[in-house]
Amino acid sequence: MLTSVTAGPYTIRGLSVGGVYTSIGVPELGLLFDAGASPRSLATSDVVLLSHGHVDHVGALPALLGIRALHGKKRPPRVIMPAEIVDDMRAALAALTRLQHWPLEIDAIGMKPGDELALRGDLHVRAVRTFHPVPSLGYVIVKKVSKLKPELVGMSGPEIAARKRAGEQVTDVEDRLEIGYATDTLISAFDHAPELLHCKVLIAECTFLDDRKTVEAARAGCHIHLDEIIERADRFHNDHFVLMHVSQLYHPDEVAGILDRRVPPGLRSRIIPFVPSGGGWPG
Ligand SMILES: [Zn+2]
Ligand SMILES: [Zn+2]
Repeated sequence: MLTSVTAGPYTIRGLSVGGVYTSIGVPELGLLFDAGASPRSLATSDVVLLSHGHVDHVGALPALLGIRALHGKKRPPRVIMPAEIVDDMRAALAALTRLQHWPLEIDAIGMKPGDELALRGDLHVRAVRTFHPVPSLGYVIVKKVSKLKPELVGMSGPEIAARKRAGEQVTDVEDRLEIGYATDTLISAFDHAPELLHCKVLIAECTFLDDRKTVEAARAGCHIHLDEIIERADRFHNDHFVLMHVSQLYHPDEVAGILDRRVPPGLRSRIIPFVPSGGGWPG
């Protein structure tokens, strides 16, 4: 069973257990973040954004491509990933293609921190730096919205139209930060890419939640500990914080209670734990 939560205008649906698998879809935008599991309903996304090459985040990509073909999708998906891993990903898929006698094709796109790419229409993705032992990226999904220039607000429609005809620029383009995605990283990713803290919806890892793992041990594996989020609680300006990649050290049923006890209410009320409800971890 997939976990599905609502965060503002978006459905966040998929599977995420720290170190086991992470695949999180946003159906309203046709996006899939990471490919560590291959549930059927996430296989039709035309854009897949890979955070890094660890198998709990990319291991199910070939299976997703196979299922995608069963759904009748002919065009390969765009698969966005850290630029450093594009060649290895192509080589891995080429080997699996030989095993399959059937092409596992992707449109591979490598990005570096600071790069921006148009996805479709007004939707763009910006890559941000994350900190993990292998090449890795976080992503910010940006909507480009045209807004009337402030000095023209209040002017009549015909007057604005006349200025436009005369060649005047009447609108500014504003970046709306819709979704931020940061996983498998040290907490310092938020210092290097503060825009993550201002996205409407932040989907971010918090692998360890209490003293069953020390902050030092979490940092040694380049993961985030809840203590580090609590320390910075007033810096998160997101409407919703979808907290994922929780370690299986915790039972899913205890996660909300730990957050209730530990996180200041102003932040806690905006955190949505991305864990299955009523039972254990799936599988
Ligand atoms: Zn991971
Ligand atoms: Zn990892």
